[in-house]
Amino acid sequence: MAEVSDQTSEAPPASAPSRPARSAARRELGRGERLLPGIYRLRLPLPWPGVPHCNAWAVACRGGYVLFDTGMNQPDSLQNLQRALAMCGIEIADIRLIVCTHAHSDHCGQAPVIAELAGCEIWMHPSHELLNSMVEDPDAVFARRVEVARQSGVPAEPLERYAAERKTGQTGFAGVIEPARDLVNGVVVRSDLGDWTVYETPGHSPSHVCLFQPERRLLISGDHLLGRISLYFEYGNSPDPVGEFLNSLDVVERLGARLCLPGHGRTFADVHAHIQGNRRLVRERLEKVAEAIGGQERTAFEVVPLLYGDALSAGNAHWLISKTLAYLTHLERIGQARRIAGEPERWTA
Ligand SMILES: [Zn+2]
Ligand SMILES: [Zn+2]
Repeated sequence: MAEVSDQTSEAPPASAPSRPARSAARRELGRGERLLPGIYRLRLPLPWPGVPHCNAWAVACRGGYVLFDTGMNQPDSLQNLQRALAMCGIEIADIRLIVCTHAHSDHCGQAPVIAELAGCEIWMHPSHELLNSMVEDPDAVFARRVEVARQSGVPAEPLERYAAERKTGQTGFAGVIEPARDLVNGVVVRSDLGDWTVYETPGHSPSHVCLFQPERRLLISGDHLLGRISLYFEYGNSPDPVGEFLNSLDVVERLGARLCLPGHGRTFADVHAHIQGNRRLVRERLEKVAEAIGGQERTAFEVVPLLYGDALSAGNAHWLISKTLAYLTHLERIGQARRIAGEPERWTA
């Protein structure tokens, strides 16, 4: 049975509020291990409490490797990747191709640096607006976030703290990515273990794809499916992230994967149970949101504690508000919620 949580385990998106780095004494290092012959898990540290690592996967291909995901761009991130690769007998120069599951910094932030060193291409889904705008004008992205939060009823004080913290924050992206190839449905990534087919799986992010190796029934799942069930929806870059996510669960369920190689945490085999667990958690959240606005007019900010029991802080505000707005928007689309325009905006069932 999959462990369930959508509060603490999911990687904050690319753009999550900046948080203090761990002390040097507790700093994690990149680590690599063989999963199967020709497939290596590279466990790369993240500076986010509650999300200590992300995974990249190196898969053998023509005397070198395809690198699926990259870790985020931080001062020591290249050394950590090199360290993890070295534990598997791989060098950066062995990388023939970089494939990114989605445009969050922990999955593609370091891609331009690696591509430059290895002289290889980057392949990615075309909907990576978040990444481009974050690299080109992070202040505008944060300003928009503050505006969405204000509009959602978040009081001035935590907003000011968030805005102030952001000013010193790093984005986690090394630079703009111009993919040599768009990862859309049906694109194939070749490897010594067979071909991996791209399936578009938006929801967590509009740029999200999973890659399936049909003979071995292996699924590189990014953040679409994680061992510890957790939900995050990138709000504002697509019409209905929750609805998109539910459709993407159907897409992946039809594949019949036997082993999932996720973007965070260990591999897991009970893929079907995880898909069911995700559906169940979304349904529960939607019911709670619907309940919270039943016979009431509430702001998204007022719904958050009813949903998560957490007080909003500068550290989680953007993240929890995004998810709550994604649920409200989905309820609106299925005719169970109504948006009441105003300052702030309110919602009712
Ligand atoms: Zn992630
Ligand atoms: Zn992500």
